[in-house]
Amino acid sequence: MGVIQLRTAIPGPKSQALMARREAAVVRGWFHATPVFIARGRGAVVEDVDGNHLLDFAGGIGTLNAGHAAPNVQAAVKRQVENFTHACMAVTPYESYVRLAEKLNAITPGKFAKKTLLVNSGAEGIENAVKIARYATKRSSVICFEDAFHGRTLATLSLTSKIQPYKEGFGPFLSEVHRIPYAYCYRCSYQLEYPGCGVHCAHHLEDTFKRVVAAETAAAVVMEPVLGEGGFVTPPREFAGIVQEICRKHGILLIADEVQTGFGRTGKMFACEWSGIEPDMVVTAKSLGGGLPLAAVTGRAEVMDQAGPGGLGSTYGGNPLACEAALAVIEQMEREELPARALRIGERVQARAEKWAKEIPLVGDVRGLGAMRAVELVRDRATREPAKEETNGVAKHCYEHGLITITAGTYGNVIRTLMPLVISDAELEEGLGVLENALHAVAAGAAQTARA
Ligand code: PLP
Repeated sequence: MGVIQLRTAIPGPKSQALMARREAAVVRGWFHATPVFIARGRGAVVEDVDGNHLLDFAGGIGTLNAGHAAPNVQAAVKRQVENFTHACMAVTPYESYVRLAEKLNAITPGKFAKKTLLVNSGAEGIENAVKIARYATKRSSVICFEDAFHGRTLATLSLTSKIQPYKEGFGPFLSEVHRIPYAYCYRCSYQLEYPGCGVHCAHHLEDTFKRVVAAETAAAVVMEPVLGEGGFVTPPREFAGIVQEICRKHGILLIADEVQTGFGRTGKMFACEWSGIEPDMVVTAKSLGGGLPLAAVTGRAEVMDQAGPGGLGSTYGGNPLACEAALAVIEQMEREELPARALRIGERVQARAEKWAKEIPLVGDVRGLGAMRAVELVRDRATREPAKEETNGVAKHCYEHGLITITAGTYGNVIRTLMPLVISDAELEEGLGVLENALHAVAAGAAQTARA
């Protein structure tokens, strides 16, 4: 017997009642992937309020690489709660903030002296990295990528690409933000093909300095090593290196957004390690805090130290509970070799997904790095018309059968895998089985509709 155990239809009666209260009390702007309320979680399994056990392939959108209720994270937070819950780094400093900064300085890519700023969320991290870059370079423009996601605050929303539902109606945005195509090979903006293209999209940055914005005014390029919300778009290995080279040539700081890719997800502690780049700043969040709100900006000491005392910080940034949780997460990742585990998870997912691509016409592309895997669904393999409704149908079929998934992509037609890396092989296969059945069921339904 597997770990998925359903006592009620999904959603069960208690989840339905809570959903009605949620609709009355909570803003509509909150999206939810599943109509199920969680009661408790362990590893890769979620128990809902109706007593159903579901497998989790979404991991709180990548916040739970170390697993639900990781025992050492829980123990560290409990110990800290008994001493003090908060003091504010700007009032009474505490050792765990310093220890975490030392650890992040040591493990993030880049063989140079580093310093770290801790804040509360991925968006706050990116926002601060941009502030630091502007202060350090005395330049104002920022360059980012199509299909990127960097957050929902006003500055990060300016960097985020997707219009609906993120941007429409929330402008005006920062004026000095310029967007260039990412290496989305399945939907190449230049209709080129890798490797014949010579990674034209990365070299296009030079062209941008002639046509769009002067390199001398550019403070930073903000780049995800693999697009997260954009649909797990995985660029050719040399893409990031070319971008870094062009940045260095023009004195532009490279900010790597490792909010979703970091902490083992791609098979290395940080995705930048795959291309060997050494960004000037690395922004981390999500799985760093093991479920507690925490983000970090770690970068070259001489850049990070430009802003003076009081120029950076926030009341709760680097809260001691979150710092202790993060130190426990990193210790667990190293001890259990979770990045290596992510590689093995990724190999299994990829093998299954390649089989789906052969059998199910709905599956247009399979891609990813480590356990950051995705299938992109299309109505027609020749036109690559995005299959958004079908993707939502797959996600619905999955949760109705006990698997929590999360979609992604500018066209909303990607199913991505963000399962906790502590998932067992048996749990992984069970979850993949549900996903496989969902793909077959939705593809059969779509074919029937087309015939009718
Ligand atoms: N950057 C990336 C790559 C993300 O995936 C996200 C969130 O999904 C963010 C930034 C924003 O993080 P947060 O939601 O913690 O503000």
